[in-house]
Amino acid sequence: MTIEQHTTPLSEHHVGDALMLIAGEWTEAADGWWIDVESPRDRTILGRVPRGGAEDVRRAVDAASRAFPAWRDLRPRDRGELFRRIADALEPEQERIARLLSLENGNAIRTQSRGEMQFVVDAFRYFAGVAGEAKGESIPLNPQVLDYSRREPLGVVGAIVPWNAPLMLSALKIAPALVTGNTLVLKLAEDAPLAVLAVARVCQEFLPAGVLNVITGYGSEAGEALTSHPAVAKLSFTGSTAVGRRVMEKGAERIVPVSLELGGKSPQIVFPDADEDWVVDGTISGMRFFRQGQSCTAGSRLFIHESVFDSFVGKLVDKLSELVVGDPVDEASDLGTIVNARQFDRVGEYIADGIEQPGVDLALGGLPPAEGPLAQGWYHRPTVFANVSNSWRIAAEEIFGPVVCAIPWRDETDVIRMANDTHYGLAGYVWTHDLGAALRTAHALEAGWVQVNQGGGQVLGQSYGGFKQSGIGREFSLEGMLDSYTQRKHVSVHLER
Ligand code: NAD
Repeated sequence: MTIEQHTTPLSEHHVGDALMLIAGEWTEAADGWWIDVESPRDRTILGRVPRGGAEDVRRAVDAASRAFPAWRDLRPRDRGELFRRIADALEPEQERIARLLSLENGNAIRTQSRGEMQFVVDAFRYFAGVAGEAKGESIPLNPQVLDYSRREPLGVVGAIVPWNAPLMLSALKIAPALVTGNTLVLKLAEDAPLAVLAVARVCQEFLPAGVLNVITGYGSEAGEALTSHPAVAKLSFTGSTAVGRRVMEKGAERIVPVSLELGGKSPQIVFPDADEDWVVDGTISGMRFFRQGQSCTAGSRLFIHESVFDSFVGKLVDKLSELVVGDPVDEASDLGTIVNARQFDRVGEYIADGIEQPGVDLALGGLPPAEGPLAQGWYHRPTVFANVSNSWRIAAEEIFGPVVCAIPWRDETDVIRMANDTHYGLAGYVWTHDLGAALRTAHALEAGWVQVNQGGGQVLGQSYGGFKQSGIGREFSLEGMLDSYTQRKHVSVHLER
């Protein structure tokens, strides 16, 4: 589609066409097709990106394969130094890129996008610092034998990211994959490619051609082409469990290692001694309300002890009512928009389903306003369902919206059983002053990451990842980098022959 053919109005912040990166060149799709990127704040067109397909993926993987030997053989610390310089060069661009992110995925700039962009710079510096740490070991066998291991890169990595935190998740693939000597083909989410392309532009000023390739396009086209390509030696995917299963099947066909960071329906457990304001603030943060609940770690099942249930829900409703839902690039907004029409409708369907459950108490929010300024974009308001049963659909399925289900509990054993009664296992939150209860619960939760008395985001250096159907592998840390992006080779040398 050409710009002239648009029926949807262009955004006041329209950025034009942003190109893909293949073999060091900024390029259109081979077949000339484009994807419009809509701004969810007002449903206008923000720009276009190429609709990459199999031919583009083939060119990108070829470029990454050609670039691999020289990049692999560069001194690891020199690779790290390049990422240090990229981080420095990104700093003056941070505000511009954070704003672009808010415009394309609807996250509020003050509460989300600035921090996410800062994370990119921090992640590049972190992995730059550990670039030389891909060390092996030697085994003391006997004086005649030197037996040692090396950690080697895998080759061309194929990585795929979603739209909800595209900058952070792309940085967590680009930096660890590249500093360990792999080359990369990164497929961006069709709904939020622009901010990552802006980061890639800065990276490309420092990296040799073909080391980093960035493809835009749909999952069913570019995504499938990447997971099927025979020269891709490793797949790293962040997104939904349904697509993760598909990526794993494609990896299994060729026995290619796969890392998966998938969905969640994480529990927060509030003990009777935790009916306090700071806990309410913490559960709001743990629910990722400031990202409209569009987070894999959202603590969207809020188990509150029955003795403090009404009081806690009352405080929660009061605090959530004060949050400002509005234009993501307005400094006053605490929450922005849902990313697109499909997700907006999906969240609305879950809310409608919740309202119909017998005995439910819609304590706050509900279906989105049909008129007024919020009706101009894909805005949902914070929604609290109280007296929810853990077996209802709204408590069992990942809504990926600003909807929390408050579920009463009486007995510690029973709340742990309910918390674990899910095929997901990503995160968990425990709120209590009782250290014994906190740690008993933290250890009993089937989740890859449990926070006690805090509801923060991931920190570099944590081996973050999921249990059960929330994923396989860890990527936020040195250990994750070694496990995900290197393979061990053993060398045994007889010294006297
Ligand atoms: P999604 O799975 O629909 O899409 C993610 C990416 O996969 C996109 O780039 C998409 O184009 C691509 N894709 C879709 N179909 C594909 C296919 N057949 N082959 C290859 N690629 C394909 O997920 P989404 O809706 O973009 O993101 C939301 C999901 O991501 C949620 O489930 C959320 O929990 C999860 N998520 C997990 C983490 C984590 O760290 N565990 C982080 C962020 C998001």
